[in-house]
Amino acid sequence: MKGKPGWKDIPRGGMILEAGNAATYHTGDWRSQRPVWDPEACTHCLFCWIYCPDSAVRVVEGRMTGIDLDYCKGCGICVNQCPKAGALKMVPEDTAAAG
Ligand code: SF4
Ligand code: SF4
Repeated sequence: MKGKPGWKDIPRGGMILEAGNAATYHTGDWRSQRPVWDPEACTHCLFCWIYCPDSAVRVVEGRMTGIDLDYCKGCGICVNQCPKAGALKMVPEDTAAAG
């Protein structure tokens, strides 16, 4: 074949790209705020786990164990849904990361 392939050379269905998924990159990288969890105040109701759109709330044997910051995007839904005052709060990422 000479030069670049033309449209007739492209196979039916075009170029099939390999499927990707979010497991291989950390979607929490662009977060501007993060939820901070207080295990003392938490009642383990798991509302945060139910509502988190990124499956970033970690649960072991029916009890919340924290937030997976590799995948938490900082949307704040968990904080809004948490019925227990003080169990979750949003803080700016720069202050949380600093200390
Ligand atoms: S919603 Fe609040 S009280 Fe319930 S498990 Fe999550 S942090 Fe704990
Ligand atoms: S801030 Fe959003 S992405 Fe992060 S744990 Fe809460 S609900 Fe999930």
